[in-house]
Amino acid sequence: MSRIVYINGEYVPEEEARVSVFDRGFLFADGVYEVTSVLDGKLIDFAGHAARLERSLGEIEMASPVSGEELAEVFRELVRRNALTEGMVYLQITRGADRDRDFDCPVPELVPPTVLAFTQTKNVVGNPAAKTGISVITIDDLRWARRDIKTVQLLYPVLGKKMAKDQGKDDAWMVEDGVVTEGTSNNACIVREGRIITRDLSEKILHGITRKAVLAFAREAQMKVEERPFTVDEAKEADEAFITSASTFVMPVIEIDGARIGDGKPGPVATRLREIYVEESRKSAI
Ligand code: PMP
Repeated sequence: MSRIVYINGEYVPEEEARVSVFDRGFLFADGVYEVTSVLDGKLIDFAGHAARLERSLGEIEMASPVSGEELAEVFRELVRRNALTEGMVYLQITRGADRDRDFDCPVPELVPPTVLAFTQTKNVVGNPAAKTGISVITIDDLRWARRDIKTVQLLYPVLGKKMAKDQGKDDAWMVEDGVVTEGTSNNACIVREGRIITRDLSEKILHGITRKAVLAFAREAQMKVEERPFTVDEAKEADEAFITSASTFVMPVIEIDGARIGDGKPGPVATRLREIYVEESRKSAI
């Protein structure tokens, strides 16, 4: 059975889904996206993803083509039609396809946006990497200055992951002005003397929906949280490190640039936060 995807109001088999060669997402990366995880066939933190989508669209001066309710309906229908129990729903909205390649933004009334969504199966909870932890390298953060907008312009993260893989490592953390910004597709956290430290929110990082939930759960569990920049040296000397994202939840990091973190195994804070995140997300999934 082929996967059913959503494209501009229709549910079609993936082989039949078509996007124009003039689509601005394809030609200019002129679009935004969201990844929402699915557990037990239900959406995790849908409201957070819908709110960030609305914000990203606003920042690139696009009107939202779908309401939050409509989007929830589309996501649920995709999950249902594809009998997805665990994985993700990917959503992409671009400024549509004009008749030519033209830098000027088309008039929205004449050129409708492209709205595309599809499901992906993934073992998120039982991901074996959560048991071993992952290794990261550090690289210069060479992305544009508005990383708070979740655009489909992901060339540098793609290259960052490739640099890591070429060195036999799992992922990369990006560094700017001597401090860590975030991972290629995740937020970076370290733990020192029981305190969770992660970069403060600004235009320099994506405001992770998982980061927000995890920090709230940590505070509820009486853990101390510090939202501030940290250096690579501070990270290397940390007791623990981990990343957060919708597709990895809380994932322990056990090596940074070849330096072992803690005892080289997933630490108690990351392990506990992962458990809490899964437990609480299951409860509030819709
Ligand atoms: N930072 C970046 C650069 C990302 O691409 C992502 C995931 N798309 C995140 C952080 C994590 O965000 P979320 O928890 O909302 O998946």
